[in-house]
Amino acid sequence: MSIHGPERLDHFMARANAAYYARKDPFADFMTSPEISQVFGELLGGWSAVMWGAMGRPASVMLVECGPGRGSLMADALRMIGQVAPDFRAALAVHLVETSPRLRAAQMQKIPDAVWHDRVEDLPDGPMILLANEFLDALPIRQFVRRGAGWNERFVHEGALQEISSTETLNREAGEGEVIEICPAAEEFTAWLAEHLKKQAGAALIVDYGPARSAPGESLQALRKGAPVDPLQDPGEADLTAHVDFQALVEAARTHGILAYGPRPQGRFLTDLGLFPRTHQLARRVEEPKQAMALLDSASRLAEPTRMGELFKGVAMCSPFVSQIPPGFEG
Ligand code: SAH
Repeated sequence: MSIHGPERLDHFMARANAAYYARKDPFADFMTSPEISQVFGELLGGWSAVMWGAMGRPASVMLVECGPGRGSLMADALRMIGQVAPDFRAALAVHLVETSPRLRAAQMQKIPDAVWHDRVEDLPDGPMILLANEFLDALPIRQFVRRGAGWNERFVHEGALQEISSTETLNREAGEGEVIEICPAAEEFTAWLAEHLKKQAGAALIVDYGPARSAPGESLQALRKGAPVDPLQDPGEADLTAHVDFQALVEAARTHGILAYGPRPQGRFLTDLGLFPRTHQLARRVEEPKQAMALLDSASRLAEPTRMGELFKGVAMCSPFVSQIPPGFEG
């Protein structure tokens, strides 16, 4: 896969990831929360059930997931919803937003009655609860370098970064030579979500990793078999991701007129939702002490600040007329 001349970084990243997700099994390269513990999806299912109540229990509601990967989160959520909120289970229709045909096939095994879409813009109107874990980090970013009073933009040329002078005006602080990142696709996603949530009752829960506050710094990374590799080499062979700018996300939501909560560190958020009691309940049921230990360790991996508990964060967004503070965001 090669193109002639310098290619803007976001275009390079979009092309690399489309090839990557279409051909590779991402889960050979990295591990996500729903793959670490079934409790992650179960808690998000419980969260969705509470928000359905806060929305006034609409008789028909979409349960949407963006970038569902193997479908584990949704399968775990649906199982929990069936147990604790059968009325919600009966009211919901599952919609999955996924571009990769390969991952769609995996999702179909677990959630055969879902409806698939390429883009959120293709979702029908109606009340909605939307979940997204490690979706925004896969969306393409642009990088700008402060040079004097202006900015250079980074392009990719023959496997290396190249700076090209830019006329963009960016409302961001950075010292000489410092890099800032923006994610236009995340901005478009938030704008779409806000339009939807202003028209119809709904709530969204977005979990991903990145800093709570916008700051200069570059975060583009590539993982292959769990180890970092050069993101500019061999496009399509590794998963390219970047930190999510949670401050920008929350500010965009508010600017567009919807309610936004967080970012809340994943450890605190999941603990509030009941990560440990639920994990202990499961651990008591298994035969092998080893299995019980593994369950407890998976919970600690999700929640401990030095593991995934602090870098990963949750943000909730709600319709302006859905005023209940979402579970996990009261603290
Ligand atoms: N949420 C899953 C998978 C995370 S990997 C988990 O937590 O395990 C990122 C997911 O987003 C994959 O399913 C990938 O195919 C999907 N994806 C990446 N870019 C996308 C895009 N532009 N539109 C829709 N889905 C996308």
